[in-house]
Amino acid sequence: MNIKQNEMVRKMARELVKNEVMPFDKEMDQKAEFPWHVMKEIAKYGAFGLTEDPAYGGAGLDSYAETIFTEEMAYGSSSIAITLDAHYLAAHIFAKYASKELKDRLMPDMNSGNCIGCFALTEPSAGSDAAGIKSTAHLEGDEWVINGQKAWITNYSVSGFYLLAVLTDKTKGTRGISVIMVEKGNPGLKFGHKEDKMGIRGSDTGELFMSNCRVPKENLIGELGKGFKYCMEVLDIGRHLIGAMSVGVMRRCMDESVKYANERKAFGQSIGKFEAVSFKIADMKIAIETAEALTEKICYLRENKQPFSVPAACLKAYGGQRAVWSADAAIQIHGGNGYSKEFVPERLLRDAKILEIGEGTTEIQKMIIGNSMLSIK
Ligand SMILES: Cc1cc2nc3c(=O)[nH]c(=O)nc-3n(C[C@H](O)[C@H](O)[C@H](O)COP(=O)(O)OP(=O)(O)OC[C@H]3O[C@@H](n4cnc5c(N)ncnc54)[C@H](O)[C@@H]3O)c2cc1C
Repeated sequence: MNIKQNEMVRKMARELVKNEVMPFDKEMDQKAEFPWHVMKEIAKYGAFGLTEDPAYGGAGLDSYAETIFTEEMAYGSSSIAITLDAHYLAAHIFAKYASKELKDRLMPDMNSGNCIGCFALTEPSAGSDAAGIKSTAHLEGDEWVINGQKAWITNYSVSGFYLLAVLTDKTKGTRGISVIMVEKGNPGLKFGHKEDKMGIRGSDTGELFMSNCRVPKENLIGELGKGFKYCMEVLDIGRHLIGAMSVGVMRRCMDESVKYANERKAFGQSIGKFEAVSFKIADMKIAIETAEALTEKICYLRENKQPFSVPAACLKAYGGQRAVWSADAAIQIHGGNGYSKEFVPERLLRDAKILEIGEGTTEIQKMIIGNSMLSIK
């Protein structure tokens, strides 16, 4: 861990959030439009290629920097944090497994933010049960021909490149799943409807349809039949990042609650003087410290190339649940005002709920943890 570097990343991210993200957070939620102007400002800070190779224009930072940055973005806006999170997942797979030719061609634009990434695993009938995907790809001459549908895909209509998990061999179960890259503008890739979401409304979520979508056979990412492994690997990173988001969301809940509890008076005193209020804030602080410590532990494991699936599942389950609780508690502390869109907590609650669903629900995290404790394969 490079403490000085981490402090610099945090300072830079806080400034960015204060000046470029928070002024537009309410508008993003109200308009439910992808905030291109915010993303362009964020791109100037090198956010898209934070951990990527400097040879391709990345910043070459580590997972500490990635989680600190994610936490700070989530403090300002979960829509922005989740947009970057989806890009990071696609970029991690691409950087690790794509061919040199593909990397030479696409990574500079990915790292500069000109080419946002999309990681598309989920389908209408395969979410938690991701191994049940039905989209297929077969070779015709020198081209993959992809058919199928993806659902609930972040960055679905704003991306420059799409990593699709598809069946390349229906007879081999998860070993028949591969990852294939499709670029923006491919006539065989069509956008379905955009989801009208309860929260993270500035993020771009929707359906993808692949209809005889043809790409060069070189667009296979990594090895044939290894796609499910790549997806599971990157979902561990995704759970780490969602955990970092939960820390940012909880800090925002706490700060909004502290400010309000100091200002609002009832029965002749600040409401913060009532234990029922201050204990809620104390519980937020306990959850923040706990999730932050676990986030750092996972950074240590990642940097030292050690397994981190179970701690990442613990962080995601804990952080997601506590973030939802914290947002609910922040509403309660705000009383009637907490129920109003004039105040931040109601949006925090709507935004926080994704932390219990995306990248594996809380139940699936508990299944991973339980199975690991009981050595169930
Ligand atoms: C806003 C948003 C953005 C998303 N972005 C992406 C993206 O970019 N890329 C992508 O690939 N996917 C994305 N997803 C999909 C997301 O990963 C799935 O929604 C999630 O994994 C749950 O799958 P599901 O919706 O099919 O729910 P289901 O799998 O149908 O689950 C429904 C309920 O059943 C429970 N359940 C299911 N199986 C079990 C079990 N074995 N034990 C106990 N309980 C179980 C679940 O926990 C849940 O409560 C996104 C989803 C949302 C909402």
